[in-house]
Amino acid sequence: MPAAVPPTRPRTGITRFTNCRLVKGDSLVEEDLWVSSQSGKIVSSQAAFFDDLALPDESIDLGGRIISPGLIDVQLNGAFGFNFSTLLEDTAQYGKKFLEVKKGLVATGVTSFLPTLTSQTSGLYQKVLPYLGPSRGIRRFEDGSESLGAHVEGPFLNPAKNGIHSKDVLLEAQTFEDIEACYGKANLGARESNNSPMTMVTVAPERGQMSKLIPELRKRGIICSIGHSAATYEEALVAIEAGATMITHLFNAMRPLHHRNPGIFGVLGAAENLQRPYFGVIADGIHLHPTTVNIAFNTFREGFILVTDAMHMMGLPDGAYQWTNGDATSNIVKVGPTLLLEGTDTIAGSSISLIECVNNFLKWSGTTIPAALKTVTATPAAMLGCQETKGSLNAGADADLVIFSEQLKGGTTELVIDEVWKFGNRAYCRGPVKPPHGTK
Ligand SMILES: [Zn+2]
Repeated sequence: MPAAVPPTRPRTGITRFTNCRLVKGDSLVEEDLWVSSQSGKIVSSQAAFFDDLALPDESIDLGGRIISPGLIDVQLNGAFGFNFSTLLEDTAQYGKKFLEVKKGLVATGVTSFLPTLTSQTSGLYQKVLPYLGPSRGIRRFEDGSESLGAHVEGPFLNPAKNGIHSKDVLLEAQTFEDIEACYGKANLGARESNNSPMTMVTVAPERGQMSKLIPELRKRGIICSIGHSAATYEEALVAIEAGATMITHLFNAMRPLHHRNPGIFGVLGAAENLQRPYFGVIADGIHLHPTTVNIAFNTFREGFILVTDAMHMMGLPDGAYQWTNGDATSNIVKVGPTLLLEGTDTIAGSSISLIECVNNFLKWSGTTIPAALKTVTATPAAMLGCQETKGSLNAGADADLVIFSEQLKGGTTELVIDEVWKFGNRAYCRGPVKPPHGTK
């Protein structure tokens, strides 16, 4: 008797990855991964198969390659020619340009990020911040990388540690009204509401009354990071006790470690009963010596977050690029990965991609691939408080994934991005998409 033709099975939107290694904690685990393009989430294969009787539409054999949660960059100033700290005549154009960056960024493995503003005038913050907030409920993989809210670096910074921020726009806050006047009351969100487009601010806690104002920022769900600061060890401790949970680009634009005054870095060596902060590290080979990066990692691994601090020259050829700095306009010169303020030797951010930082870090530290990827996935997600949905391959998390090949270069393994998935859909593929293997 001929076999009965099975009725056409309704599509479930589920993709199963098989023959792959998943980044889970500090290990690479050989396990299948099921994702849903309908919910945009990682699904439990057990629950889908046994409870919902849902089978995958497609099975993809990865030939032993690595799947990591999508990368998270918590300090990105712009990319592909667009600087987020730009005031455009036609503000609608701003939203369009921001979307273009997000679409380009996803191919770099960064599936979510904090668009970062350097110190600017109040007028710019008030116009631009509404475009940079988290997408809250809009889950379109076609939009590319996702904003998790703005990182506003300044202007409540120390002029002695301004880096490339214009001293002319730096402010001191005595009261919370000073902060509201700068960013705009609406942009700070309501107390206990968590509805601000700002997810993180970098502040110099020793300026004005900033340390005392940190709790008010925290009540609005805004993370406080210490940076561009001349704080002493003691002043940094006060800020952490007030609720600061992060340090912006550790070592850069702050007092260096001195054996009699350990400065901000010192809090990473503080006693166990202190909630030690997370910290950003720029592993571009220019901002920090490789050994300095390793010292930071070995001091407090659970807090170590790689960031690019990339400027809008990321992805562009070498040359001089105009840069709006507060009220003034100057040029930044890009030579390879180096960015300098024209006519000076001041480092002006970086033009590196996050995966290049991860590969540098792998080489310098000799750490494992999952430990290196944790610094751009699980650790930033924990810092942001979104570890249930981001930076994880557990069921229920967003299906934001990077598929990596490994390549041996100069004796060390480098990670190469083959594919990026956003909300359970393929958003980028290096080379042509291979036909699915073993589709049932
Ligand atoms: Zn900075």
